[in-house]
Amino acid sequence: MPSSHRNTVSPQNARALGPADCTQCDAVCCRLTVVLQPEDNIPSHLATYQGGLRVMARDEDGWCVALDGARMNCGIYDSRPSVCRRFVMGGPYCNALREEYAEERTRGIELVLQ
Ligand code: SF4
Ligand code: SF4
Repeated sequence: MPSSHRNTVSPQNARALGPADCTQCDAVCCRLTVVLQPEDNIPSHLATYQGGLRVMARDEDGWCVALDGARMNCGIYDSRPSVCRRFVMGGPYCNALREEYAEERTRGIELVLQ
């Protein structure tokens, strides 16, 4: 995960965001770089290389190519990468991403993730 993201949420913004709920979220965590581990069994057409690392490929809008865009949920949930399994809904990183995404959308600025 990139270190440039904040890992805290102001109390004011946490209230505005509401509790984390993946069914109500634009899956913003699925725009992060997902570095694949040796134990991950991901089809080759869903993966690529970035900086020498094998990662999940992303579409032109930045979302992971395994995301089911109609439902905004993971299309390979049962075999999703270990990094994705460890990501905690409602954890500091989830909240920081949702806050950042909400702020950028408010400003009408395209969110760019690394
Ligand atoms: S884990 Fe957090 S950021 Fe990811 S889809 Fe769920 S609520 Fe959204
Ligand atoms: S593999 Fe699934 S959970 Fe992981 S980033 Fe892609 S769509 Fe999201």
